[in-house]
Amino acid sequence: MSSFPTSTVLGYPRIGPRRELKQALESYWSGRSTRADLDRAGAELRARTWRRLAELGLDGLPSNTFSLYDQVLDTAVLLGAVPARYRDAPDPYFAMARGTDGLAPLRMTKWFDTNYHYLVPEIGPDTVFKLDAGKPLGEVREARALGFETRPVVVGPVTFLLLSSALERLDEVLGCYEELLAELAAEGVAWVQLDEPALVGDRTPEELAAVRAAYERLGAVRERPGLFVASYFGDLGESLPVLAATPVEAIGIDLVRGGVPGADLTGKTVVAGVVSGRDVWRTSPGRALAALAAVRASRVVVSTSCSLLHVPYSLAEETGLEAGLRGRLAFAEEKVAEVVALAEAHLRTPAPRLGPPSGHGGGGVLYEGDEDEPSVPLLPDPDPAAERSPYPVRAAAQAEHLRLPPLPTTTIGSFPQTGELRAARAAVSSGTLSQPDYERRVEAEIERVIRAQERLGLDVLVHGEPERNDMVQYFAEHLDGFAVTRNGWVQSYGSRCTRPPILHGDVSRPAPITVRWATYAQSLTPKPVKGMLTGPVTIVAWSFVRNDLPLRDVVFQVADAIGQEVRDLEAAGVSIIQVDEPALRELLPLRRAAQADYLKWAVAAYRRATSGAGDRTQIHTHLCYSDADQILAAIDGLDADVTTIESARSGARILGAVSAFGRGLGPGVYDIHSPRVPSADEVEALLRRTVEALPVERVWVNPDCGLKTRTYEEVEASLANVVTATGRLRATLDA
Ligand code: GLN
Ligand code: ZN
Repeated sequence: MSSFPTSTVLGYPRIGPRRELKQALESYWSGRSTRADLDRAGAELRARTWRRLAELGLDGLPSNTFSLYDQVLDTAVLLGAVPARYRDAPDPYFAMARGTDGLAPLRMTKWFDTNYHYLVPEIGPDTVFKLDAGKPLGEVREARALGFETRPVVVGPVTFLLLSSALERLDEVLGCYEELLAELAAEGVAWVQLDEPALVGDRTPEELAAVRAAYERLGAVRERPGLFVASYFGDLGESLPVLAATPVEAIGIDLVRGGVPGADLTGKTVVAGVVSGRDVWRTSPGRALAALAAVRASRVVVSTSCSLLHVPYSLAEETGLEAGLRGRLAFAEEKVAEVVALAEAHLRTPAPRLGPPSGHGGGGVLYEGDEDEPSVPLLPDPDPAAERSPYPVRAAAQAEHLRLPPLPTTTIGSFPQTGELRAARAAVSSGTLSQPDYERRVEAEIERVIRAQERLGLDVLVHGEPERNDMVQYFAEHLDGFAVTRNGWVQSYGSRCTRPPILHGDVSRPAPITVRWATYAQSLTPKPVKGMLTGPVTIVAWSFVRNDLPLRDVVFQVADAIGQEVRDLEAAGVSIIQVDEPALRELLPLRRAAQADYLKWAVAAYRRATSGAGDRTQIHTHLCYSDADQILAAIDGLDADVTTIESARSGARILGAVSAFGRGLGPGVYDIHSPRVPSADEVEALLRRTVEALPVERVWVNPDCGLKTRTYEEVEASLANVVTATGRLRATLDA
């Protein structure tokens, strides 16, 4: 078996440095280009990536890390797990990814604790696994034609089945992987990478037995490439000895999120992830080299902690960043250069065994020179005396002040974002539209949204969020301590990308952010208008965050800034303030042992942000998941006066679980993810079920989430039916 290259990355961004794949996909989906055009665009992006990685000096090039949509979907296709109902679609792959007129897509959910979404494979009694290795083999050949030998990357069998809730199908699936290994060997492939991030979570004895069985069996394949099992996003823990006892030749270990393993891994190659794939900071060479030296293995190869999919392409474009900050940053290209430099340095210095580095518990660090002290003292725990009055006291004050009808109707915040507004924002930043002109357009849009809601007869109005490009980036742009990038796009799912802000310093709020828009909206109507804020956990979850402070302290800083905004909104006469926390679950640690502590401080941060509100100010929160059960106690702990959550898609399953919250609740009455307009009858039926499960005086009526992605036509028709249905139900209450 040939030895593993000296430097590698576990994966690379694929959307294109200028989001070329997004353009190619959207043009194909809209019928403006052909499948052949799309495939050509994909081939160009792959070729560019291999060339660039080789130019930067990397010697272990991965392949099959490209995907037209999602690598988990690709793995399902590789294994033949295409549900029967998609097979006759004109393009079954995109039918699974996006649905068709008559077919819903596969369910999508977040990839471990990242903001990347994968498609959940559907494995049922009629799934017949059958290998189709066309994609990985095709990429190996394509790269070879360009002069590059590559290591195909495939999601490993245990992770694939755990994500599909089908571990009992291991035997069948392993048959496909055995064939895959044989086909790759016949193609002359030296190494294959099987991604097993699921192994960094808590695993039951049965699951560990599955790991053992899987890699014993794959190890026994006679003609096969070297087996490299990559773990990432945390410590392998109890999975490491299990994996180490199998014949796999190389193990990937995340030394940024996890520690240097104590175990002696002599006999194995360790692919040491010392350059973080989850943040945008330069690596401290000192720490990384110490971590590399501390690994006890036959061979130590330098790598990234996970795929670079989660960071933007390159800093080259970011000339607008302040030089001091820019010097501390590394995006994908810069991280590859770090891997190469560290590999050279590691080879040159057969460093003494230093033992695991102390301090931050891993190899990845902010930048050199940060190692002495955190830049601000740790923040104290929130002051319990600063908590709000008990709910009954607040509820009485709010009822008196707001005088809302039973079953108040409202929306979650955003209204459709028009193309004109997006164009106007672009025009402001390019200097062709003046700030006052832009603000007048935003005001006109707010007025239109208010009038529409008045016409519809909603009870609690919103201003529609027309001034926001994004619920996190908008706040980042108005808080000190954050920077925003020009081209720092990261794939979220399919063709969708976000541009996470960079939280690099101490956070503070130089001036009120939303008060101007909220008071303008309120000035237009006698009905209450909700103030709209993004919560501290969500702002941090959807940003790249400094790593020289505990995450908790960073979140508390953001909470204090949002808390000032809450107080200013209240002082300006806004009597309902919604603080959204849709990412509360996303930051939940993968290991159960760490979850309670996280939830405790996350809840404390939310309360810190909202506890300055007086009794008669009504605090709302919004979360958008259908399977919130896992963190229900924490949601309850937020102590918001009203909680709106997604519910329609899960068939109102959530009702029983949330009925224990003794406060206001707005389970969504229709799914905003689909263009379908719900009928008044349908909404009424759902509302009836809701008031059977919950005390009617606590129920709010609202859609599942914000309306930003819908059209005005859809929104007006849907909300009209919601108001009609609510009216019918109110009439029965009076009777
Ligand atoms: N207020 C936000 C909106 O309506 C909430 C979005 C979200 O939950 N992701 O757009
Ligand atoms: Zn939502």
